[in-house]
Amino acid sequence: MSTSVASFDVVVVGGGPGGGYAAWRAQTGAAGASSPLPPDPAQRRVLLLESSGRIGGRLESIVAPGTSNLVAEFGGMGFRPKDTIFSALVGLFGLDAVPFAMQGNLAYVRGMRLSGGQRIDPGVLPYQLTDDEKNVVIGKPPGLAGLSGPFALVAWAADRAIPGCLNFTPQQWELAKRTVIFDGRHLRDLGLWNFLLMSMSNEAFTYVHDMFGHFFEVANWNCAEALPWFVGDANSTYQTLATGYDTLPKTLVEKFCAAGGQLKLDTPVVSVTQAPTPPGGLLVNLASGASVLARQVVLALPQRALQIIAPGSVVLPTPAGQRLIGTVTGQSVMKLFLTFATPWWQNLTPPIQGGSSSTDLPLGQCWYFGATAGGDSLMMASYNDTLSTSYWQGLESGPRFPTQAPNPPALWVEQAASQAMVSEVLRQLELVHGVPIPTPTGAAYMNWARDPFGGAFHTWNVGVDAEVVEAKMLMPDPATPLYVCGDAYSSDEGWTEGALATAEQVAQDRLGLTPPPWL
Ligand SMILES: Cc1cc2nc3c(=O)[nH]c(=O)nc-3n(C[C@H](O)[C@H](O)[C@H](O)COP(=O)(O)OP(=O)(O)OC[C@H]3O[C@@H](n4cnc5c(N)ncnc54)[C@H](O)[C@@H]3O)c2cc1C
Repeated sequence: MSTSVASFDVVVVGGGPGGGYAAWRAQTGAAGASSPLPPDPAQRRVLLLESSGRIGGRLESIVAPGTSNLVAEFGGMGFRPKDTIFSALVGLFGLDAVPFAMQGNLAYVRGMRLSGGQRIDPGVLPYQLTDDEKNVVIGKPPGLAGLSGPFALVAWAADRAIPGCLNFTPQQWELAKRTVIFDGRHLRDLGLWNFLLMSMSNEAFTYVHDMFGHFFEVANWNCAEALPWFVGDANSTYQTLATGYDTLPKTLVEKFCAAGGQLKLDTPVVSVTQAPTPPGGLLVNLASGASVLARQVVLALPQRALQIIAPGSVVLPTPAGQRLIGTVTGQSVMKLFLTFATPWWQNLTPPIQGGSSSTDLPLGQCWYFGATAGGDSLMMASYNDTLSTSYWQGLESGPRFPTQAPNPPALWVEQAASQAMVSEVLRQLELVHGVPIPTPTGAAYMNWARDPFGGAFHTWNVGVDAEVVEAKMLMPDPATPLYVCGDAYSSDEGWTEGALATAEQVAQDRLGLTPPPWL
């Protein structure tokens, strides 16, 4: 091997929140007695490799053209009080956290337009619910933790299978996941859809699905993981970052570089192979044909990105590696943003000030983000998933919709929506709101089903013991210093916290860093 190959203590692959955090911790964290890293952080050589030209991964925040400060969040957009690492980092770095409006406005289902109150009025709902289900929808049974509507139906089903679970601690859930038998099966051997249809009518299930405007939440994913994921968030509040949700990974990487870490953007990794002995270690092979030598490698990547680099790599293509990688399913999601000269939704009766509306149309959900003084206003015109995403994929080609504001951000232009998508989403917005929709001033979208993401979220497959896989995934082969982190194989799938928590586990358990004092 050429002696000119650069060598590093740690190479982190993937500049999303998991990779940014892992790199920052590896460069700056205090080494414990058994750490393989140099005790003096200034002596450490840590490299972060990112295939795209930006930091953030599935967090992507773009100030919408024509607005002075309205941020279009193409990926993740909010965090919860229970996101302990996220919240601690916000405090540590002094980031500007602000409340995130979650109120539900209209629902347009089965051709009917429902106002906020009608969404939970069984006398109006176009679904044939049983008397018990009607009572649950209005939140009548005691012990539903104040819930009504679709969340109440899922909580009601969960509470009948696992009494008291609406108030469970994480430890109680871990026990329930291992011990509860429902209809003769462990919860992990059932899909959530299976479970819900055993617990409510198909009409009630369809109501839940339609009111969410998404399918992945109630898709047939591992019931033992899905129930606590659902129930745990039912009453949560949310915050976001005023400067954009991707400020967190960007700040982590800034701090990493300021501490001496090396960052290379536009540098896709194609495989990780065993280095010849001597010098040993792992070779991280780049698309450019060059390689770097690493004593330890952290892959902060989702499932599809792992599948892409697996051929020719160590560990990943083995039957055991493939089994681990195949334990989750990527869920397609697309977001389409429009800007308008006026926030027309604020002129409806009653006016809509924020939050979302949902529908069984392919549009899924839309979200309202208001206006800036003298500037354009911003709306997430469609937040769709699974089957609906395939609907929009059919309209992706053709001429782009022109953005009127001068000098739009390069990423907004790169992600411009087609005119066909915009015409169709305007037609559906008109059905949802019952008024003519003005011509937008700009349009951009992101389809997360594309490589290297393979989906916005991942869900554990039926039959998988998620706790066991999560632990194994951190170091798939005990003889190879190759570690995997990210939300895709975490107990917080779909949440940045899952990426940060697994990266922290790699930092402590594999890189031998001591727990951070700020956590
Ligand atoms: C539409 C949507 C909504 C979401 N909503 C929320 C929310 O409200 N709140 C929340 O907390 N989370 C939310 N999430 C989830 C959040 O985005 C993820 O949990 C988080 O981004 C996971 O971080 P990660 O580091 O594991 O992976 P990623 O963010 O996917 O980062 C992986 C990185 O690896 C890079 N990469 C891939 N292959 C290679 C390669 N071969 N070489 C080098 N680099 C490579 C990618 O370009 C990417 O930058 C949402 C996500 C989406 C898409």
